[in-house]
Amino acid sequence: MEQLGFAGMPTRLFSCTPSKLAAFAECPRRYRMTYIDRPSPPKGAPWAHNALGATVHNVLRSWWSLPRQRRTPEASRALLNEAWISDGYRDAEQQAAAKELAVGWLESYLATIDPDAEPFGLERTVAMRTDTLAVSGRIDRLDDRNGEPVVVDYKTGRSALSEEDAAGSQALALYALAASRTLRRPCQRVELHHLSAGEVYTHVHTPERLQRHLRRAEQTAADAVEAETRFKSGGASADEAFPPAPGPRCSWCDFRRHCPEGQAAGPPKEPWAAIPVQR
Ligand code: SF4
Repeated sequence: MEQLGFAGMPTRLFSCTPSKLAAFAECPRRYRMTYIDRPSPPKGAPWAHNALGATVHNVLRSWWSLPRQRRTPEASRALLNEAWISDGYRDAEQQAAAKELAVGWLESYLATIDPDAEPFGLERTVAMRTDTLAVSGRIDRLDDRNGEPVVVDYKTGRSALSEEDAAGSQALALYALAASRTLRRPCQRVELHHLSAGEVYTHVHTPERLQRHLRRAEQTAADAVEAETRFKSGGASADEAFPPAPGPRCSWCDFRRHCPEGQAAGPPKEPWAAIPVQR
């Protein structure tokens, strides 16, 4: 993917998802191991909370595929059994408890959803380009609220969220911009649907605020390109170009075993440690 840059020199658009940008911003070493190193270093064991999150997302996608008369909150139990991903759990007992918990989240959440309100898209891929970025991503649900597109992102984690998380999410802002381009109509409302807390957090962006998010994304992309150029040209070592950023997230990092600084930052976690039911 190339376009003409200064003085007729071809410059490459930085092709990315919001996750890729976040990875560089959070920890350049993790970014390198995920996106630059080939082969990528082996990851640790799969996380049960990721499996639970993926299962719930799959149920919410499948629910909209049911015939209209079967879109009831109670339908989620059968869908969950079909979609269940068993990776990472401690044992069958914890899985059974997690299933009941998830059914509770889903039934409560779906009781608030109008089954006639067909969204613009489910897990819909949207994309946009700027002078330096080609960003794409998949939106959990793109609602149609009287013709206005609304970005809906499902969350199943335990951490408390707030409206500031909706406002500050670069991913949601980029999705809104990309949805505007894809649907050719303004998209400024973004929502976090926190199923495990039974809460919805909303933010309505101004065009200026969306542009600020986009400029920050472009700056992160420029920093990532510069780091990769320095590394691949031999101008910097891997750790100079992509330094570690140790912190609390290191306990949950897929690449922790390849990272002494991350190991020193905190204790390892069992793959099932973030599942809300531990009995
Ligand atoms: S363990 Fe921490 S410092 Fe190391 S790569 Fe992962 S997030 Fe970065």
